[in-house]
Amino acid sequence: MARKLIVGNWKMNGSLAMNAELLEGIKAGLARVDCDLAICAPFPYLAQCQQALEGTGVALGAEDVSAHAVGAYTGQVSTRMLLDFDCKYVIVGHSERREYCNESDELVANKVQRALAGGLTPIVCVGESLKEKDAGQTEAVVSRQINTVLSVLEEREVCDIVVAYEPVWAIGTGKTPTPEMVKDVHALLRELMIRKNPDAAECVRILYGGSMKPSNAEEFLKMRDIDGGLIGGAALKASDFLKIAYLASR
Ligand code: PEP
Repeated sequence: MARKLIVGNWKMNGSLAMNAELLEGIKAGLARVDCDLAICAPFPYLAQCQQALEGTGVALGAEDVSAHAVGAYTGQVSTRMLLDFDCKYVIVGHSERREYCNESDELVANKVQRALAGGLTPIVCVGESLKEKDAGQTEAVVSRQINTVLSVLEEREVCDIVVAYEPVWAIGTGKTPTPEMVKDVHALLRELMIRKNPDAAECVRILYGGSMKPSNAEEFLKMRDIDGGLIGGAALKASDFLKIAYLASR
């Protein structure tokens, strides 16, 4: 994949005033960006982001989507609704949702299916917990997570997803795996996707996520197998998010 993808995950942060400042700051630095850039924002702020990002080339995404198409699902948000705000991406299976909302591998797979059917690009998050890492289960965990998603996809649909490898123990902790560790997991994920669709070698972007920031982004982004980053904390500061985007633009 020649062009890297940098995605900001704002999580449950922001306010109308804070977002306005952040979006202006990002827009002011876009001239030097030569990678694909996206912002995944909380649902209530999608309209604000849509308006601010119009014509900038920065894509918009949501942080979750319902597995259902429409109907009596109080509090849930459908793909149709996200399309109303020009969303291109949706994060699915983030570890915070797997953990705090008890999202199972099967539910994540259903959401991926629903996102694709609705015309959105799911950013499918996989990753092991600290306990699983320490027990030597990283490969087994990410294989189970991605295989459950692959089991519900048509061969051609494999090319329509983005995968984010996010070790849970690296999210928001300041700890990171070595780029070599990430490279090995990415190679495994790609191999599993290639089994379903040989084109996955080229067509699927696999991002790294977990405490990526300007000071460590280069070592990850310079690796051929790492096609970009999913950025949490550092996406909340325009200058940090832009610095990561610049490093991905080389
Ligand atoms: C994330 O939550 O997707 C993430 C990568 O967070 P952080 O960059 O803050 O570790």
